[in-house]
Amino acid sequence: MIAVLKNTATKEQISSLISWFENKGLKVNESKGEYCTVLGLIGDTSTIDINLLQGLDIIESVTRVSETFKKANRKFHPEDTVVDVAGVKIGGGNFAVIAGPCSVENEEQIMSAARAVKAAGATILRGGAFKPRTSPYDFQGLHEEGIRLLLEAKKETGLPICSEIMSPEQIPVFEDVDFLQVGARNMQNFDLLKALGKTGKPILLKRGLSATIKELLMSAEYIMSEGNPNVILCERGIRTYETYTRNTFDVSAISVLKQITHLPVVGDPSHATGKANLIKPMSMAAVVSGADALEIEVHCNPEKALSDAAQQLTPAQFTEVMEAIGKARSIL
Ligand code: PEP
Ligand code: MN
Repeated sequence: MIAVLKNTATKEQISSLISWFENKGLKVNESKGEYCTVLGLIGDTSTIDINLLQGLDIIESVTRVSETFKKANRKFHPEDTVVDVAGVKIGGGNFAVIAGPCSVENEEQIMSAARAVKAAGATILRGGAFKPRTSPYDFQGLHEEGIRLLLEAKKETGLPICSEIMSPEQIPVFEDVDFLQVGARNMQNFDLLKALGKTGKPILLKRGLSATIKELLMSAEYIMSEGNPNVILCERGIRTYETYTRNTFDVSAISVLKQITHLPVVGDPSHATGKANLIKPMSMAAVVSGADALEIEVHCNPEKALSDAAQQLTPAQFTEVMEAIGKARSIL
């Protein structure tokens, strides 16, 4: 149930209404906007008399909602959420570019990629230290050493760092990592989501390979219901019958998400297409579809990359893509 309050409602009136709801066993999600306050009521609202509420002086409107996702729902929280990733804001008109190699491979590789993406205008450095590979015989990442190297790159460039976490046991290793990525393969690792909900860290939640938009939002709900509001969603392509591209970039999901949730949305054209020569047009498509950020893989020597070689951009290609992103943003 959603109660929209009149802008004449005083603080005291609002808090006594909230206590009344809480005494009825409901959780109240308060969202203060510029023009009104919205109370999202979570729990069994069947005992609430809607007519009684509508008769109160401070109530503008009351609606029952049957949506299963509550905390991420824009109806409960009309204003865009802005997530602060170690000083870099994402959402609510703040645009970010998360760039770097698929995997952290060695010191020279991550340092050169970090310098290159920074020079081209990226605002967050990415690099996988724990890699969820399809084959157990492929490069699995440098693990703790990879995190240490990312922290070195952060020290030199000043860029906040983003890296994928695969299990709740790894949380202590990610203590100094600014932005924790939940990869597509772990979107429904509910124990991981719940544990990340207790950390308060910004979480980049990627859409599962064959997950619906609703399922992605329900996974966000797992993190948020544990108390962590800092969730950013990522469309990274879904599996369809098409095999020409690695996945099918569901660009419309970006626009849908922007309509139905207040959480920031990231487009990842690298994993969506798997092809370096499609990153420029798909980055522009994501931007005009409403993406608050892009995640793009960049490697100084893509053909030698230990993972995702075909989709990583050279620094020169990335610079060109950054220019195209700027152009796409200028027409919004
Ligand atoms: C990655 O970002 O390198 C990655 C493995 O992404 P995804 O989980 O979207 O496949
Ligand atoms: Mn990758």
